[in-house]
Formats: sequence, structure tokens, C-alpha cells
Amino acid sequence: ARRKYVVGNWKMNGLKAALDEARAIFAGAAEHAAVDVALCPPFTLIGAMADAAPGAAVGGQDCHAAAAGAYTGSVAAPMLADAGARLVIVGHSERREGFGESDADVKAKAEAALAAGLSVILCVGEPRDVRESGGAIAYVLAQVAGSLPAAFDPARLAIAYEPIWAIGTGLVPTVVDVAAMHGAIRARLGELSGPAAAEAMRLLYGGSVNGDNAAELLDAGDVDGALVGGASLTAAKFLPIVAAAA
Ligand code: 13P
Repeated sequence: ARRKYVVGNWKMNGLKAALDEARAIFAGAAEHAAVDVALCPPFTLIGAMADAAPGAAVGGQDCHAAAAGAYTGSVAAPMLADAGARLVIVGHSERREGFGESDADVKAKAEAALAAGLSVILCVGEPRDVRESGGAIAYVLAQVAGSLPAAFDPARLAIAYEPIWAIGTGLVPTVVDVAAMHGAIRARLGELSGPAAAEAMRLLYGGSVNGDNAAELLDAGDVDGALVGGASLTAAKFLPIVAAAA
């Protein structure tokens, strides 16, 4: 059976003073042994957070596809691992849309992260107009096919379905729509990587998850966890989501 996985994406939030909050989150999460919990702070906090919470799963929010080189301002996957990260998010819509990342870019980043020994959370999700025109599933399945690494250990690759219109808006798809999307993603993964890999991979939902809606979303078919933005910044908001997954 797939273990539930609740991941906080701090986005561009968090100064050193926030390390106390991270410690509180990991301490609270430890009481839910059946749930895997990770936090992805900005690059600047990864090392300090990994030191502050020994044994905790700390991750990055992006990495470069190259292992090193003349890429001013970028951070490579081996650097994340060296700083204490165990995972990295790739393909977040804020990267795809704000930084022009293509499916091919996301695939290359995921492959670089896996090669560096990191686990990967690969994000997909449709914009509002695509949802409204009825094309969400086809759009997301094309993203999955285009950004999936060529080879991977299914235990180290999770897919996060994050409808763009649900991120930071308080809007959430219906449970029926979430289950339909996740079921379609798992079926496509089966075609691409084989049924055993598809069965082992964790599919997370993201977009306006909070303590009030987490239980319902996490109970939806083929939902194995949550990728949480705003509600992951404090223990008070994040731990009820972890508890809902337990
Ligand atoms: P919110 O939970 O703030 O909607 O953000 C979701 C997200 O983008 C997580 O990666």
C-alpha cells in the first residue's frame, strides 16, 4: 500500500526565524508515523532546516538540469543533496508559467534530481480556461507523458496534480473531479511505465488544501497525499492536514 505523503511548499517565504516553525512542524508530524512529511523551503534555508531537524525530509523547489556549470543564479541537484535535501519539486506551475519551463525542461530536471539521489515531486495541472473547456484531463496527461523521466524508481517519483486555478485562490475542484484526474493519471502512468510502477507511485493533490478540506481530498480515489502552499507555513495550519492524512 502507498504511504500517505504530505509536502509543504514554502515558495518564496521564510527567513531564519521560520526555522522554529519548521522544527514544530517536524516534531508534530513525528506523531503520525503512517504519514511521510516533507518541507520544501527556499534554497537559502535548506541547509539550516536540515540541520535544525535531523532526520527530517527537507527539499528544494526547483533545480537546474545540469550538474554544474556556467548558469548564474541556478542551483544544481547535487548541490541540493549536498545541502541536506532529500527531495525536490520540479515543474511547478509557477516555474512553468513564470519561467517558461517546458515539459522537456521539467523532464530533464527530474532526471537530474534522480541522478543526484533525490526524490522528485513532479507537478502538472491545467489553467482555468482548459478546465472550463473540458480539456483538463487531456492537457494534464500530455504534461505527464512529456515530463516523465525516461527511467525511474517509482518509490522516488511522485506526481502532484495542481490545477493552476486552485493555487492560492481558495477554489478547489470537486472530489469527483480530483478522483477522475488522479485515476486518469495513474492509468496513463501504467501505459507509460507499466502497471507495477503506476501502482507504486504516489499522486498528490495540490491547490488550496487546508485543515478543513484535507480529509475529504485525501480520501478521494487515487489521492495519496497533498502538496500544500500557504497552509504549510505554520505548524498550526499544516499539522491538521498531516493529521487528516493519518
Ligand atoms: P496553495 O496551497 O497556497 O494553494 O498552493 C498550492 C501549491 O502551489 C503548492 O505547490
